[in-house]
Amino acid sequence: MAGEPQGDCLFCKIVEGHIPATIVRETETTVAFRDINPQAPTHVLVIPKVHYANAAELATAEPTIAADVLREAQSVADEDKQASYRIVFNTGSGAGQTVFHAHAHVLGGRGLQWPPG
Ligand code: 5GP
Repeated sequence: MAGEPQGDCLFCKIVEGHIPATIVRETETTVAFRDINPQAPTHVLVIPKVHYANAAELATAEPTIAADVLREAQSVADEDKQASYRIVFNTGSGAGQTVFHAHAHVLGGRGLQWPPG
């Protein structure tokens, strides 16, 4: 069911503590942890604890939690002292999404090109 933990979801397993992660922040509704394959000095994933496949599905079903994810992205950047940073929501495999549990990439600490590749 939408929002419920999915047994085959990597990020649900991180939320449940079944897979280790370097957690940098946790709230009632979100978890933020360092990406296992960082693409910048700051590369943190902020995820909702509830399972939705992507950011749009989360925002439709749980707009308050979607806002929590964005607020936590700012807190992650603040804690890493990144005045400038990028938030990325890859949506769909063609855009590079590989984990189908909504997540914000928070990237900072180096020059970031535009447009992204
Ligand atoms: P996507 O490609 O779906 O936008 O992002 C998924 C991200 O999850 C990738 O950047 C990938 O490096 C990261 N990732 C995949 N498996 C793990 C894991 O087991 N632990 C952590 N911390 N990150 C992971």
